[in-house]
Amino acid sequence: MRRKLIAGNWKMNLSYKESEKLAKNITEKLDPKVMQKIDTLVCPSFISLGIVNKAIKDTEVKLGAQDIYYENDGAYTGEVSASMLKSVGCEYVIAGHSERRKYIHETNKIINRKVRKAIEFELKPILCVGESLEEREDEIFEGVVEKQIIEGLSEITKESMKDLVIAYEPVWAIGTGLNATPKQASDMHLFIAKVVSKLYDNEVAEALLILYGGSVNGKNAKEILSACGVDGALIGGASLKADEFTDIIKIGAQI
Ligand code: PEP
Repeated sequence: MRRKLIAGNWKMNLSYKESEKLAKNITEKLDPKVMQKIDTLVCPSFISLGIVNKAIKDTEVKLGAQDIYYENDGAYTGEVSASMLKSVGCEYVIAGHSERRKYIHETNKIINRKVRKAIEFELKPILCVGESLEEREDEIFEGVVEKQIIEGLSEITKESMKDLVIAYEPVWAIGTGLNATPKQASDMHLFIAKVVSKLYDNEVAEALLILYGGSVNGKNAKEILSACGVDGALIGGASLKADEFTDIIKIGAQI
């Protein structure tokens, strides 16, 4: 069984001080023996990246950002560049989260530019894909996700794929308390691997980490993380509670 990755997306939550406290609580609760078996990262807001980086220093917890801009620098008010993220200790960056697709109207093309910029600066992108409830009910979800992957990975070389992670996050399951059944998650993860295999080859598809995201919590983590093809989780709500988040990490390390 391959080493899993558990990522916490704190979204637009927590002040600077609260972020520091949560990061410290998480690292205190993590047993180094558990951390030998699993990878984990937290993605606080931009303003808290620095303080969280300090709090997780000398631990196995990694740092990720929730977004990135696709230009190097210049007159782009409010945006944050890849080199800024690197300078504050980020190793990962989320690209194309469904909330950004929905509220900020990010398209596959924009997301692709972000993924490419992350790779150029040696940040590991976590490309989020997933269908809406309507798209699932209309049974067009595979096509939607396939398009998100093909367009999101445009111009990404086989070589760069080794540092890329895909998160399958059905929109209807994010922050709703609903989650995909292990079979639904597994079917989509296998489908995503098939799409990636067609785009590149089997070797790339087999090495690719595919996370599941959507209301993962301490209660459902075991069955979701045990599903075939699920290599970890991207977790929103439950990652804001140190006890629950570290419980999920422990569960992931035992599978
Ligand atoms: C997310 O933010 O990517 C997410 C999956 O959120 P939640 O776990 O709250 O559904």
